[in-house]
Amino acid sequence: MKCYLHGDRDATGTCTRCGRALCPDCTMTVNGNVVCRQCTEQMASSAATVQVVNRKEPILSVVLSFLVPGLGQIYNGHVKKGIVLLIGYFLLCWTCLVPLVIWLYGMYDGYKVAEAINRGEYQQDWFS
Ligand SMILES: [Zn+2]
Ligand SMILES: [Zn+2]
Repeated sequence: MKCYLHGDRDATGTCTRCGRALCPDCTMTVNGNVVCRQCTEQMASSAATVQVVNRKEPILSVVLSFLVPGLGQIYNGHVKKGIVLLIGYFLLCWTCLVPLVIWLYGMYDGYKVAEAINRGEYQQDWFS
């Protein structure tokens, strides 16, 4: 078997991703897996895409929290925190102050967490 890029060179391995034959020059190792250069580049660009997709809009998180307590947290990926805030809000409807605090906290937390996610800081959800 010959390298898919270098027809004159014998392949020493195959890409674990696309299965093409690779000579030592074309072989890259990512997390212990042999992959070709092309796949390495594809993986890097798809990782970059994920980074963009993961960006959160702090204002949107505040707006969602304004509309429904906890919704901004769910938007940020903190589903459990969002549900706790939402249930807490409705369970404590009979009081005046606590739902107000939860509502305000939801907007504050939604903004802070969205900003932290954009800075690339990992934010842990509650109970995880
Ligand atoms: Zn490949
Ligand atoms: Zn090659």
